[in-house]
Amino acid sequence: MYLVDSHCHLDRLDLPALGGTLDAVMARAESLGVGRMLCVSINLEHFPEVLSLAHRYDHVYASAGVHPSERDGAEPGVEELATLANDPKVIAIGETGLDYFYNEGDLEWQRERFRRHIAAARETGLPLIVHTRDSQEDTLKILEEEGARQVGGVMHCFTGDWETAQAAMDLGFYISFSGIVTFKNAAPLREVAKKTPLDRILVETDSPYLTPVPYRGKPNQPAYVHYVAEQIAALHDIPLEQIARQTTENFNRLFGLA
Ligand SMILES: [Zn+2]
Ligand SMILES: [Zn+2]
Repeated sequence: MYLVDSHCHLDRLDLPALGGTLDAVMARAESLGVGRMLCVSINLEHFPEVLSLAHRYDHVYASAGVHPSERDGAEPGVEELATLANDPKVIAIGETGLDYFYNEGDLEWQRERFRRHIAAARETGLPLIVHTRDSQEDTLKILEEEGARQVGGVMHCFTGDWETAQAAMDLGFYISFSGIVTFKNAAPLREVAKKTPLDRILVETDSPYLTPVPYRGKPNQPAYVHYVAEQIAALHDIPLEQIARQTTENFNRLFGLA
């Protein structure tokens, strides 16, 4: 079996709780069939570390971008993002998007940052990793306005309703489910996951955050994408192996990997 964790933050894992080293984390992932992972950039300050992890491990890829909730670091320009992304192991622009949950006041700066990421994605031809929280309408509007359908991408850690999922898929986006889909109170999200066509689904951990059941409350790690995939397989009433194969194919198609 071969699974992909389409979204994790390897540079933020709680290593002392996970065997002490990244090699231990990788061994655990391998033991649960996780063969590839995308380590997602959150700010420019930590991008070099993210990229070096992708260079250190053959099966780890990187993205270039600044998270919508990052306020203290450097503000990325279009050319700067395109330059950072100019590396064979960088396969996406993000994570970017809008987060109206953690941020208050006039959020025009967030929308401007999002627009610059989409411009960089179009310039480089790389797909987008989109984070959206309490901001579905503006997120879809800006994706549409800035021509994001030219490059496509993924709505990561999806928690929206079916209408939002459909609108994103109409723009050529994939829907990525995280450990949230295993949470007891997530019945509405499970309904969305059930309706989402198999050829549009990705799975992720967003580790170190959002640890799936049965490890909820413990530190998350890429290996646990196994439990997310298991939940999706159950919802679609198909074997785990089929979900693994399908989501891996989807990942490779979206990010242009063999
Ligand atoms: Zn996110
Ligand atoms: Zn993330």
